[in-house]
Amino acid sequence: MWTIIPTAEIYTTPQGRLFDQNAAKELAKEEELVILCGHYEGVDERALELLHADCYSIGDYVLTGGELPAMVMVDAISRMVPGVLSNRESGETESFEGSLLEYPQYTRPETYEGLRVPEILLSGDHAKVDRWRRDQSLLRTMERRPDLFEKAELTKEDRKFLKKLREAREDQG
Ligand code: SAM
Repeated sequence: MWTIIPTAEIYTTPQGRLFDQNAAKELAKEEELVILCGHYEGVDERALELLHADCYSIGDYVLTGGELPAMVMVDAISRMVPGVLSNRESGETESFEGSLLEYPQYTRPETYEGLRVPEILLSGDHAKVDRWRRDQSLLRTMERRPDLFEKAELTKEDRKFLKKLREAREDQG
């Protein structure tokens, strides 16, 4: 006879909703999460019904068991819990925030193996640096994950920049 504990909430399965940054943020608001990991063919459907488990997949491929998906989810969810990240590491500008990829990162030294940090980042002009980062973020998303634009929140300036990018590309053939 099974005793079903009603706090179990998530079942990891390739048939679930895709686990993404928004899901990580939503789940970070929960007080308690129990993640159920399947093996072999998965978990008896009746147990899932009784638990009212939400089903999540970490991608369109099949793994041997749910442990790795659970670890991926625990890592992504816990860094969204207030206080887990320091201000410096804050997730606010990271990839998928506002449905865009993050801008490229540079650190010291200013020149490494002949490659310079972009001059604008050394200018001390914070407004220009912010605009440059936003443009780079748009450019990177266009090049690598244009599908993300469907859900992105874009400003008038963003749209202007993207229009210019598209026109420049069309000119290049
Ligand atoms: N028979 C299942 C199907 O075709 O949908 C696949 C079972 S899989 C071999 C065994 C377990 O690994 C699943 O029950 C699940 O817990 C986990 N698993 C495998 N791939 C996964 C994925 N992409 N996302 C989340 N969990 C996954």
